[in-house]
Amino acid sequence: MSDLRFRVVEKAAAKKPAAVKCAETHLDKVFAKHVFDREKMFRYLPKETYDALIDVIDHGTPLDRGIADEVANGMKAWAKELGVTHYTHWFQPLTGGTAEKHESFIDYNGKGGVLEAFEGKVLIQQEPDASSFPNGGIRNTFEARGYTAWDASSPVFIMDDTLCIPTIFISYTGESLDYKAPLLRALRAVDKAAVDVCRYFSDDVSHVNAFLGIEQEYFLVDADVAAVRPDLMQTGRTLMGHAAAKNQQLDDHYFGSIPQRVVAFMKDLEVRAIELGIPVKTRHNEVAPGQFELAPIYEECNLAVDHNMILMALMDIVAADHGFRVLLHEKPFKGVNGSGKHCNWSLGTDTGVLLYAPGKTPDANLRFLTFVVNTLMAVYRHNGLLKASIISATNAHRLGANEAPPAIISSFLGKQLSQMLDRLESADDSALASGAKKAVSLDIPQIPEIMLDNTDRNRTSPFAFTGNRFEFRAVGSSANCAAAMIVLNSAVAEQLRQFKTDVDALIAGGTDRQQAILQVLREYVRECKPVRFEGNGYSDEWKEEAMRRGLDCETSCPLIFDQYLAPASVRMFESVGVMTAKELEARNEVKWETYTKKIQIEARVFGDLALNHIVPIAIEYQTRLIDNVYKMQAIMPAEQAAQLSAENRAIIAQISERTAFITQNVAKMIEARKRANTIESEREKAIAYHDTVEPLFGEIRYHIDKLELIVDDRLWTLPKYRELLNI
Ligand code: ADP
Ligand code: MG
Repeated sequence: MSDLRFRVVEKAAAKKPAAVKCAETHLDKVFAKHVFDREKMFRYLPKETYDALIDVIDHGTPLDRGIADEVANGMKAWAKELGVTHYTHWFQPLTGGTAEKHESFIDYNGKGGVLEAFEGKVLIQQEPDASSFPNGGIRNTFEARGYTAWDASSPVFIMDDTLCIPTIFISYTGESLDYKAPLLRALRAVDKAAVDVCRYFSDDVSHVNAFLGIEQEYFLVDADVAAVRPDLMQTGRTLMGHAAAKNQQLDDHYFGSIPQRVVAFMKDLEVRAIELGIPVKTRHNEVAPGQFELAPIYEECNLAVDHNMILMALMDIVAADHGFRVLLHEKPFKGVNGSGKHCNWSLGTDTGVLLYAPGKTPDANLRFLTFVVNTLMAVYRHNGLLKASIISATNAHRLGANEAPPAIISSFLGKQLSQMLDRLESADDSALASGAKKAVSLDIPQIPEIMLDNTDRNRTSPFAFTGNRFEFRAVGSSANCAAAMIVLNSAVAEQLRQFKTDVDALIAGGTDRQQAILQVLREYVRECKPVRFEGNGYSDEWKEEAMRRGLDCETSCPLIFDQYLAPASVRMFESVGVMTAKELEARNEVKWETYTKKIQIEARVFGDLALNHIVPIAIEYQTRLIDNVYKMQAIMPAEQAAQLSAENRAIIAQISERTAFITQNVAKMIEARKRANTIESEREKAIAYHDTVEPLFGEIRYHIDKLELIVDDRLWTLPKYRELLNI
């Protein structure tokens, strides 16, 4: 009966590393081979077209239709050399993944034959029949029109035989239906606001870029073993399964030697990523068995987001080649660490200055302090919203689960920077008024030491300062990190604008520039103090403390989504021109709906497995035990038989109790689901799923996992944790 399980586990154990397909040791030679980057633009486009396109990319000037034809021609010529036959607009709808609809270059030539065509107009804009993408009611299904429009700032690339054109996805009426459009707006907002603030310090800054370096964590399981776990296949996580005797207690996996099968996978993945211009750099084992990490070098934020989306798709493809299944779910296994996607974020000027790196002069350090404090203010004012940007049905399992940041957003600065801010805060007015110069010369030059102190880390902080950047660690491994980047960059943009208003007001009143900046910063340091936390974010005391400090401590995912519609959030998004109230409302509808669907699917798979796998197996085993008890009675004196079968009788009783509990509670779960399904409002429905359906999973699972421990291993059909996690 469980032959299948044994067969796949045995087969997995015998597997050797698959041959590395893309073996390549000269990574520099293949870098961006599959990207229409500047070098290829130069080679394949007429000079004027090249110049015009670069202007579009660097300065956002609108793309002229005439030029678009030339660009499309050049792209086609290049793509044909690499065997490309199709093209697609590649976009990031609110499903969280990417979408593409491939068209071949083939077209009628008007003379009864066909030709291969790729015109400027299809490069620039497409009108996918996109009525079935989530849109939160912005576009009802009768008005199916949505547009995809080329984002020239992210280069066109090739996947297999298809030319992929990164695009934004907007409705007929102009509302964004994706992640890229608001991200681009947020990046523009923070660029503008940061440039204005940089001008206090130097005139030569004309652009500020947001940078993003992601650390992608993931699990690998053997594909054949995973295939017989319907929960993994359908929900991306195990809904049941008792912990293995040995999991991560010995900490022997983290940074350990990487298994050979996995190394082969990583090599292929890395070469394919590098061919797509993704600068992958770091690979290592993570904490949990079967868990790994991949980190590219940081890039401009919009590009880094696209690259991460491509990377996640590539991981799936390459894993299949190597007989693996990649799990991007935040918590695929109970009891071992989950996966995140740390978003290392910073701002940098077009003059080459990283704004979160302490400088060498007092003025550079004042600028550094300005950006740090304003970022803290933004995180403080929008801590609930930042949490909303990273929460999801899947990431909710990871947050606060003792290896990931809690569901409270706070910021860790490290000892030196904290002391620096404390000094700034405690300086009394007279000290600042009389000795701004002194304050500058006393305090600020000490900042560079922070750079040296790399040991000053706090793994438990969701938003930690790490020397020249902030690391937003709460982001989930499966997420499109654009969601977090939209909120963070918008919030910082709003805050920088506020800062400029406040400083300008003081300057207008006669205060000198440096003095004005310090004075405003000092007020901010006081105000945002509640968001600074240097202690253990995993502790229960922190939860109480955070509550006292007035930080958002909500843990229910559907209620956390409310933050997007809080007046302060709507005001913020509208003031920086990133999203309108209407867009926010529509997007929240999608969030609630997605949440409900995810829990609904899990509940179905869960009920199915409980009733069709677990209970029948447990009863079969129980029947064997009953048979044994009977037969013992037949061959032994009654008293001896009773004595010797006492253990089995206890197990028989235990199985009855547990299976009864499971059956009754699955029925209860189905009832709760039915009730929730009748609710009209997406928000209320999501809340009902969260409050009445999901809590039953844990209770039922408890009994299933206990049964796994007592039922004959040969009968158990679902591969166990020890079999899934050891590759
Ligand atoms: P860790 O010690 O946290 O593992 P790494 O040095 O491996 O950190 O870097 C993690 C990520 O942070 C990488 O993607 C790296 O390129 C990125 N990173 C480094 N500096 C910056 C910066 N100034 N801005 C944004 N990302 C950065
Ligand atoms: Mg890191």
